[in-house]
Amino acid sequence: MNIVLMGLPGAGKGTQADKIVEKYDIPHISTGDMFRAAMKNGTELGLKAKSYIDKGALVPDEVTIGIVRERLSQPDCNQGFLLDGFPRTTTQAEALDGILSDLGKKVEYVVNIEVEQEELIKRLTGRRICKVCGSSYHLVFNPPKEEGKCDKDGGELYQRADDNPETVTNRLEVNIKQSQPLLDFYGKKNVLTNINGQQDINDVFADVDALLKGNRN
Ligand code: AMP
Repeated sequence: MNIVLMGLPGAGKGTQADKIVEKYDIPHISTGDMFRAAMKNGTELGLKAKSYIDKGALVPDEVTIGIVRERLSQPDCNQGFLLDGFPRTTTQAEALDGILSDLGKKVEYVVNIEVEQEELIKRLTGRRICKVCGSSYHLVFNPPKEEGKCDKDGGELYQRADDNPETVTNRLEVNIKQSQPLLDFYGKKNVLTNINGQQDINDVFADVDALLKGNRN
């Protein structure tokens, strides 16, 4: 099952991605996570990506497409994969078609989780992440039991550099501008489904799951 998961930052892609990969047993390929891991490990890729990510800008296509090509070529992607945060431009979408066609595959489902912009700003600026395990909390909607500490391992919670209010607005603007052509691209190919992301997490997943099981509403 070859899936592209779309939605603006804060739409709940990460949460739905976890549920999808668990149920369908496919790898979760998040370009944002790959860049953050590279930055943490101080690799050449991490150094290249950092200046863009800290500004809320997109990492150049040639860098991003290269890491996705390498990742999709690995054997664990043979039974399918979930792409999260890629493609973000039509250049990337076209490159993805080329990569997949070289591998004898294609994009089967594009799942777009829709949430209003005002709600996204609230969700993103209140988000806090555990330094140890990467679990996500929200100061208001999903606070940890003890302030500043992860419920699972007591790790310190921090705010991602690109979740501060100035960067969030820029990130959303960049994303809204970039995503429309992509939605058009996949809409024309008849693989796009919009899902209402302003429902309970489990209800959002029920809609996604119904789609993936072939019960298009
Ligand atoms: P995310 O965790 O998906 O919000 O990604 C965090 C940041 O990583 C983005 O704001 C971009 O700077 C960079 N990034 C992630 N995916 C891509 C992509 N497909 N193309 C370009 N930059 C990306």
